[in-house]
Amino acid sequence: MFKYYLLCRIVMEKVIILGTGIAGCTAAIYAARANLNPLVISGPEDGGQLTLTTDVENFPGFPDGVQGPALVEMCKKQAERFGTRFKVDIASEFKKIKGGFELLLMGGEKIQTKTLIVATGASARWLGIPSEEKYKGRGVTTCAVCDGAFFKGKEVVVIGGGDSAMEESQFLTKFATKVTVIHRKDSFRASKIMQDRFFKNQKCKVLWDNEVVEILGDGKKVTGVKLKNTKNGKITELKTDGVFLAIGHIPNTKIFEGKLDLDEKGYIKTDRFMKTNIAGVFAAGDVQDVRYRQAITAAGSGCQAAMEAEKYLAEQE
Ligand code: NDP
Repeated sequence: MFKYYLLCRIVMEKVIILGTGIAGCTAAIYAARANLNPLVISGPEDGGQLTLTTDVENFPGFPDGVQGPALVEMCKKQAERFGTRFKVDIASEFKKIKGGFELLLMGGEKIQTKTLIVATGASARWLGIPSEEKYKGRGVTTCAVCDGAFFKGKEVVVIGGGDSAMEESQFLTKFATKVTVIHRKDSFRASKIMQDRFFKNQKCKVLWDNEVVEILGDGKKVTGVKLKNTKNGKITELKTDGVFLAIGHIPNTKIFEGKLDLDEKGYIKTDRFMKTNIAGVFAAGDVQDVRYRQAITAAGSGCQAAMEAEKYLAEQE
């Protein structure tokens, strides 16, 4: 009986990190270098949002820019070099237990930890209309890098008015003959440099003051979009082969609802030490950052969270 108990006993980790985006990987580098032997759980979008982007031009240390997936891969390798363990699974439940926290993984395993760093990031927002669901993967997508090449010689639309919409449009001009950005306002919120590039590109056009109310298709693939003018309510249709959504993100905090303090948009509330309302639980990156949402700020907060976790563990001993 005692032997059986020993076999089944769950190891209490010092640090578990949820998320392998740049926040999670940076937290892992710092925790590993502090000899905390961190365990990182990948989550459903391994590598985070950087894996869905191309050139990252504003990450310090790369004067010629760096590819998003390469940047996150390098961070992972750096974390592994100092002893970080990566596990491909998804945390589906979180609870506080004596001396720490317990997570249930979708693979069925239970894991326990004295401290937890939540770096689960944010996922692409969808419009939430039925026709979008019908044509997901059949012309409707949230990732130009992943799906752009399918639209060689075709016309596509991008929905949104932020930096993502600008970036996706630029990227799509490599393949598409025309890229029309549909925006619900009459000005973009994107940064000036991104807007300048957009307006200089002959293949990029914009349709102001319109929102997509329906995705049109022939049952197999997208053929167009139905639009509603946000100023006069006029309904029109526009032919297109593909619809790329770039309308922001939703934080991945479902398993923490009712447990961690979240703001009205679902982002984890942290103080300036990356502490949540529960002692021993820290959060880093886009899951707690509604304001900056940059690779460099995500990395910075990952570093802070790991250093605070180390301090917390030292205080407990
Ligand atoms: P943003 O939240 O900045 O922009 C989302 C856009 O989508 C807004 O224009 C918004 O409209 C529009 N939108 C939101 N919901 C809807 C809806 N239901 N229907 C239609 N339109 C909608 O998100 P981004 O992903 O563009 O950017 C996120 C962050 O990442 C930013 O901080 C950005 O600077 C950064 N980023 C940086 C890049 C770079 O520097 N290379 C590249 C990409 C992103 P409205 O304006 O009316 O609110």
